[in-house]
This record gives sequence, structure tokens and C-alpha cells, in this order.
Amino acid sequence: DPLMYRQGEAVLHILIAHDFEAYFVGGCVRDEIMGREVHDMDIATSARPDQVIELFDRTVPTGIQHGTVMVLMGDYSFEVTTFRKESDYEDHRRPSRVEFVDAIIEDLQRRDFTMNAMALGMEGRLIDPFGGREDIAAGLIRCVGQAGERFEEDALRMIRAIRFASVFGFRPVKSLWRALVAGRGMLSFIAMERIRAEFERVIEGPRPLRGLALIQRSGMINEVKYPVSYLEPIRESYIRTMENPLVSGLVKRLYLLLRGLNIHAEEAEELMRHWTFSNLIVERTTKLIRFDEQWLDRLYTLSPADQEDVQKWRHTWILLELAYGSDTVVDWLECYQALLQEAAQASYPVPEWKQLAELDFLNRLLDQVREWHEGMTVYELRDLAIAGSDVIQCTGKKGGPWLGQLMKQMLESVAMGELVNEREALLEHVKDVVN
Ligand code: ATP
Ligand code: MG
Repeated sequence: DPLMYRQGEAVLHILIAHDFEAYFVGGCVRDEIMGREVHDMDIATSARPDQVIELFDRTVPTGIQHGTVMVLMGDYSFEVTTFRKESDYEDHRRPSRVEFVDAIIEDLQRRDFTMNAMALGMEGRLIDPFGGREDIAAGLIRCVGQAGERFEEDALRMIRAIRFASVFGFRPVKSLWRALVAGRGMLSFIAMERIRAEFERVIEGPRPLRGLALIQRSGMINEVKYPVSYLEPIRESYIRTMENPLVSGLVKRLYLLLRGLNIHAEEAEELMRHWTFSNLIVERTTKLIRFDEQWLDRLYTLSPADQEDVQKWRHTWILLELAYGSDTVVDWLECYQALLQEAAQASYPVPEWKQLAELDFLNRLLDQVREWHEGMTVYELRDLAIAGSDVIQCTGKKGGPWLGQLMKQMLESVAMGELVNEREALLEHVKDVVN
């Protein structure tokens, strides 16, 4: 965004005009060099927070005790942080002392990885004391300084290393990897929310399989998993489908991961809560798993004779869709199509689809259920052309459990196409069945 860049330069300019040093730092410099989209720009300066506040009209003291002031410029905002160093880390996670320093290089020294420890000044002058640019070109994740020491200070950096390796498709250097494997136990000092935030980036990112493989190989999973005894891929095709282009977003990716690990809905829900995913994510993912379990359950328990009976299938499907809602079904259809694609192309054994004939059958079935899904005109009671009050009025009876049952039954009949969703037709039906 050239406009953001220009406004950021205006901030640098004002600081420099007042004899302070100022640079773009961290993720934005890295992303710029990598040719990735820059979403926000952080600025580091020799000015102290009170001096920053004085220099700009619009500021918000977002983290003043750490030296951070948000500066608003045009339609953009910039986090402006005073050069600082951190020391006396406690419990492998937080510095008990934050100290302002005079030189950018000292500020860069506290940062985690070489690629994140570069500064960009006016006229594109790059300050890169630890070889960040070279490491980016070689695709390497390397700590600033001794990996072992840096992980002792702040153990979150271990999972951040894996996150960046996964998202960028980079490789941790050997010394980093050794320190990570040796130090993985320290992850237990880190709040699960912070681990989850990094894990989330892995799952949502372009190469979740890479991140998962690194997490597994490092042995790190033992530090963060819940008492789940079998975090081993059982259904490899599910796990691999996480990288299918048809599948994006946290909910679908988590669903494929958990199903791939053969974790059932209830346990998956517990596990996601333990991992501190938001209620919304936990609920949507659990629902998707539960829908899948129920549908496949029906599928595999139907006798061959039933399999011929399209009406029976249709009834089962529509009842499930009414119970779970269209959002869940749409997510499921996308995942399932990707899954069948993956299974068809798999060059590894797919035990979950014992033979290709079964795959054919599932493909045809997918087309069929998609047709049923697209043909649905109602999903919930409020989609019906009449309300409960209309039924009361028309029958003159008092409300009670019968009313809910009747409404639900009408919803199913309309969804099945046995009843037309029109006021007159529905009232006619009510009269028929109530008397
Ligand atoms: P992105 O925002 O794309 O995730 P980022 O590099 O901006 O990447 P942030 O978490 O926003 O990551 O952190 C901003 C900068 O702060 C990093 O580039 C890095 O220099 C520094 N940093 C962040 N977390 C740590 C940490 N745990 N230890 C040391 N430095 C860190
Ligand atoms: Mg950032």
C-alpha cells in the first residue's frame, strides 16, 4: 500500500526533523523484502514516548510502559516504539525490565530472528546487522544470537520459529533446531493463548502440513496436547486435504486435522477448548465434526437394499441439514469434495477408502447430496410461510408441545417437497391434521 508507506515516511520525517532517529522495523521490513503484502508498519525511534506524544497531533498511548505510542497519520496508524532492550526474563516468558536505549542496533538485538531484526530508514536505507536479508534469500530461520539463550529468555520464540518456517516455507538452521528440541519443555511456561495464536497462523497458513510436521518432529506436541493419547495421523488423507485449494479458513482446517487424528466430536471439543480457541470456532468446528460423524454413520450402516432407495437417503440428508443448518453443510460439502479429490490423486495408501469402487460411489453420492442441498428452500421455522400464532388462530386450540411438533413436522415436509410453502396450503394442512 503505497499510501500507507507515504504516511509512515511522514512520521519518520517529523521525528528526524526534530533530531531523533526513526526507522521502520520488524515484520514490515521483512515482508517488504520478501515481496509480501505489508499490512501494518511498526516504527522504532530514539524519541521517548512523551516526546512522541508532544510531536504529533493525534496519538494514543497504547503501551506506554513498554515505550509504545500509536500515532495516527491520515487514515493510517503506526505503532511508534522507543528503542529498548529487555532483560531479567522471568519464567521463560517476560522481561521484568524494559530499558530505553539510544541506538537502533541495540533495539534490533532484542528481536527474535534475523529476518525480524532489520530496520529501514529514509531513502530506503537498510540496517541489517545480523544478516537477515541473506537468511531470507536462503530461506532460513535463525535466532539473533544464541538460540539456546534466546529460547531460555522467552520460550514462545520456539513456536514462533515453527510458525514462520511453516508460513514462509523456510527451514530452521541446525543450531536453532537443536536448541528447540532441547528446550521444548519450556513451552509449558507459556500461556496457551499465545501458543494457540501461533498455532492458528500455522493451521490457517499456506503450508499447515509443514508446521504440523515440525511440531511433531520437535516433540513439542507433548507439551501442549491435552490427555489425548493418539495424536498420530490415522486418516492421512484428511490431514493432507488441509492443503487442498478448496479448503481455507480455520474451521475447515481444524475439522480436517481433528478428523484426521480420529478424534471424536466430544473429545475434539474439549481439546479445542484446552487449546483456547474461541467459542465460535469451537462450536462451528465441533458441529462440522458431529455432522460428518452422523452422516457417515448413516452411510455405512445402511444395508445394500437401502442404498438403492434414493428417497430414504434424501430423507436422512434433509433431516440432518435441518438439524445442523446450511452453514455447516456448505463447509462440509467443500471439505468433502476436496477430500475425494485428494483420495483420488493419492499416491499413498488410503485405507479409509478401501477400494476405488467405493470412491466412485462416494463421488456420485456427493453430487446427489449437493443437489438436495441446493434444492432446499427452508432451513428453520421462521422460513415457513406461517407462524405458530397462525396455527393457534386457525385451530382455536391452546398452545402446547403439540404446536412445536406440528411446526417441525411441517418444516420437514416442506423441506422434503411434500408441502408447498404457501400460507393457504399450510393452513389447509393444519386443519387436516389437527382435526
Ligand atoms: P506478523 O505481524 O506478520 O505476524 P511480525 O514480525 O510483525 O509478523 P509481531 O508478533 O507483530 O510479528 O512482532 C513484531 C516484531 O517484534 C517482530 O518482527 C520481532 O522483531 C519482534 N518480536 C515479536 N515477538 C518477539 C519475541 N517473542 N521475542 C523477540 N522479538 C519479538
Ligand atoms: Mg506484526
